[in-house]
Amino acid sequence: MKVYDTPDLRNVLLVGHGGAGKTTLASAVLFAAGAVNRMGKVDDGSAVTDFDDEEIERKISLQAALAHAEWKGKKINVIDAPGYAAFLADTKVAMAVADTALVLLDAVAGVQIVTERVFGYTEQYRVPVAFVLNKIDRENASFDRTLAALQERFGRTAVPIQLPIGQEHGFEGVVDLVAMKAWRSATDDSGKTAPEEVPADLAERASEARSALVEMVAETNDGLMETFFEAGDLTEAQLVEGLRAAVAQRRLFPVACASALHLRGIQPLLDVLADLLPSPADRGEAAGKNPKDGAEVTRRVAPGEPASLFVFKTIADPFAGKLSLFRVMSGTLRSDSTVANFSRDGQVERLGGLAVLQGKQQTSVPELRAGDLGVVAKLRETQTSDTLSDPANPIVFERVTFRDPAISYAVEPKSKGDEEKISNAIARLMEEDPVLRSRRDPQTGELLVSGTGQVHVEVALSRMRRKFGVDAILHPPKVPYLETVKKKVANVEGKHKKQTGGRGQFGVCVIDLEPLPRGSGFEFVDKIFGGAIPQNYRPAVEKGVRDAAERGWLAGCPVIDFRVTLTDGKYHNVDSSEMAFKIAGSLAFKEAMEQARPVLLEPIMAVEVTVPEENLGDVMGDLSSRRGKPQGMEASGHYQIIKAQVPMAEMLDYSSTLKSLTSDRGSFTMDFDHYEEVPSNVQEKIVAEYAAKRQAEQAG
Ligand code: GDP
Ligand code: MG
Repeated sequence: MKVYDTPDLRNVLLVGHGGAGKTTLASAVLFAAGAVNRMGKVDDGSAVTDFDDEEIERKISLQAALAHAEWKGKKINVIDAPGYAAFLADTKVAMAVADTALVLLDAVAGVQIVTERVFGYTEQYRVPVAFVLNKIDRENASFDRTLAALQERFGRTAVPIQLPIGQEHGFEGVVDLVAMKAWRSATDDSGKTAPEEVPADLAERASEARSALVEMVAETNDGLMETFFEAGDLTEAQLVEGLRAAVAQRRLFPVACASALHLRGIQPLLDVLADLLPSPADRGEAAGKNPKDGAEVTRRVAPGEPASLFVFKTIADPFAGKLSLFRVMSGTLRSDSTVANFSRDGQVERLGGLAVLQGKQQTSVPELRAGDLGVVAKLRETQTSDTLSDPANPIVFERVTFRDPAISYAVEPKSKGDEEKISNAIARLMEEDPVLRSRRDPQTGELLVSGTGQVHVEVALSRMRRKFGVDAILHPPKVPYLETVKKKVANVEGKHKKQTGGRGQFGVCVIDLEPLPRGSGFEFVDKIFGGAIPQNYRPAVEKGVRDAAERGWLAGCPVIDFRVTLTDGKYHNVDSSEMAFKIAGSLAFKEAMEQARPVLLEPIMAVEVTVPEENLGDVMGDLSSRRGKPQGMEASGHYQIIKAQVPMAEMLDYSSTLKSLTSDRGSFTMDFDHYEEVPSNVQEKIVAEYAAKRQAEQAG
């Protein structure tokens, strides 16, 4: 395997809405460049970058995958990223290592929600963008309509550098507006093509489009502007140079077109990647921090700098172990290089062999230079988003962060005794998937797995079954209700007295119970004057109250935010004991609860729903039927972001409802916000259900 220099690298990240054709384009590019000898297809499970069993079965990309090809002496690294909203975590992390995001659009569907979402990521990470209008061969595909939608949304800096020759079934290839050549692709889907004259019927349109392109490029550079005014045109070389610089600075977003599936326009696209897109050397210095003092540190993206690398993807293979996919951010990495992980506490990691990836297939390489992408196996501590660097020249690059996942499910093992296996498998899956979370709910005791939506969590479970051989059932999580009181009650007696033959049991306590503000927890005050209850028994009363409070009074949920004041009591020299006072404490508490207007509290979630404008009314109506309280609204392109507070109990099935209300174009996130009193009609229902369950348990 050849070693490539930094200026000869192109790191291209394929992004866009699910189904736009990213994975197919990755396979087409590899095939057209001769990197693989067969065109991989998503539909028969042979796509190079969708190799995971789960991806093959579902025919969609679930994680980022890496491949490479050589074209015109340049190494084109392709990262194929997921496009379904629930699986965008890998896509976001990959932005940190890409030099261009190739944003694919389906020329039938146009700009879709994920198109906007990933464009937002490119803004955040300052990644240059080129658009590809794919599927031009499909019925109802339109280059013009899709371009208009693109420019309406992202501005006229989205500028065509190609025009399609024909469209729909008649799509044959593209006109390259920079070189003013036509590339008709072979009709046998081999991708073969050779340059020819621009067809006569396209000549006028092509020359107008070229003039528009030349003007756009001239506008980005004063020198070129002058040349353009003097000569009335730019030469091909000037146009290429100007375009390259404008793309690297995100001042222009070139628009190309293709049919990935039928290999039309693929070879010209490879030319675009090699000739017009930035190399890692064009992206400026890599900025990070010194882990020791937090000071800003930069590295030139050059082979002579101290080595540093950033991990953008982790794959947990049950057999081969852990694979870490990385970008050499600076310096040169050799298989015997020593690097340390300064994102964790500076531990040295053994590299033991560098490789490049063609989908799942690894090829060893002796070294990788600044900007290149590769893989290393079996790092001990290193996780996605970590930086490894030369131990003598520590640096860390900023981690890619995520909002907490929206939705949780309770996971129950299918076979008893699999709890530990499941926890281990989930821990491995979490290494691969930065937005999968799990924890045990201390209150309900359930193992909760959280993700971006129902499909995300289901896919995680399905992978767990396939990869680690353990099966589990998903349930909606139990809502962690709490109980509290609303009224102060005084002088409530708890009396425990038993006379059974020998030594009896005796303890009496008198307490006050009163509500405290939210968040105060439990307070116990001892106000006994004199010796109504001896000192050593009083903690037993507190213990009795505390135990009873944990078991709840209304519906078996912990009681919070109250004060119990111990005011009086009685004891007996012989028959009193700690146990007797504990029982007396719990009896007094239960009696007091009954009088103190107990209420249930429920978790209220802060919910953010992103919906297409036309579904706004339906989604708002549905939220109010879920007892939601709107908190505001914000426009984002053709979408509205609704903020609302909604009880958790009403949100358990939300993802499927939102999906059907918005034809799967809506998305939402939610976080716990605060506890609130449950409305009395809802409380009655919960209490009745709890009573029925208790009765059934006792009967059974
Ligand atoms: P991704 O989700 O963006 O990776 O899209 P895929 O590459 O998985 O493609 C989704 C579907 O569209 C598959 O059935 C492909 O065969 C099909 N497809 C991809 N590109 C084209 C294309 O250019 N033309 C046509 N007609 N179908 C395509
Ligand atoms: Mg895909």
